[in-house]
Amino acid sequence: MNLKAMHRISYGLYIVASKRGESLNGQAANALIQVSSDPVTIVAGLNKQNLTHEYIAQEGRLSVSILEQDTPISLIGHFGFRSGRDTDKFSGVNFGLTGSGLPYLTDHTLAYLEAVVIGTMDAGTHTLFWCKVTDAQVLKEGVPMTYAYYQQVKKGSTPHTAPTFIPKDQQKHTDRYVCKVCGYIYDPEKGDPDGNIPPGTPFQDLPAHWVCPVCGASKGDFEKEE
Ligand code: FE
Repeated sequence: MNLKAMHRISYGLYIVASKRGESLNGQAANALIQVSSDPVTIVAGLNKQNLTHEYIAQEGRLSVSILEQDTPISLIGHFGFRSGRDTDKFSGVNFGLTGSGLPYLTDHTLAYLEAVVIGTMDAGTHTLFWCKVTDAQVLKEGVPMTYAYYQQVKKGSTPHTAPTFIPKDQQKHTDRYVCKVCGYIYDPEKGDPDGNIPPGTPFQDLPAHWVCPVCGASKGDFEKEE
């Protein structure tokens, strides 16, 4: 069996959220599909260790924010590489509430869904939540994010034609550095626009307080790309 075959499956990328009392939480998720049109039914596969899983299992409801392709990877990292047990993920991001009071992102979100859990299936590390969609709204037109696109951008091979001019005297500082925590690649050609690091900034010149835009790891958690 060659598990690399699994990497050929395509996915979208979403923020799945729920609540417990007044407490809101959400996480990045790629295992989410529509499986039926009448009733409109989706299935979301979520890791049992995640706080969002706990909230959904108790609340019996979830929301889905459908991200646009241009979503900053820092926003996805915020929901994907941090735990709601350590941080309030919805403080500092713009969000609205569905009719049932579940949070959905209002920035970089094309549409959102609200759904009620109608069944679950144990899938080992994950639970599959079968959900009937109870509300769905389009926020804006755009191209939805795919998991493949996110991986490309994170690995520094973004299809964007970024402003990549590098002055000649800096061209020797073009080594790329890999985050050992999340796999993000710092590419001096691109800099880190989300962190106000202009294109052409060598890794060595990043300020000491600079952190991985995806997972928040420090500079010391990076190693030179082989
Ligand atoms: Fe990282």
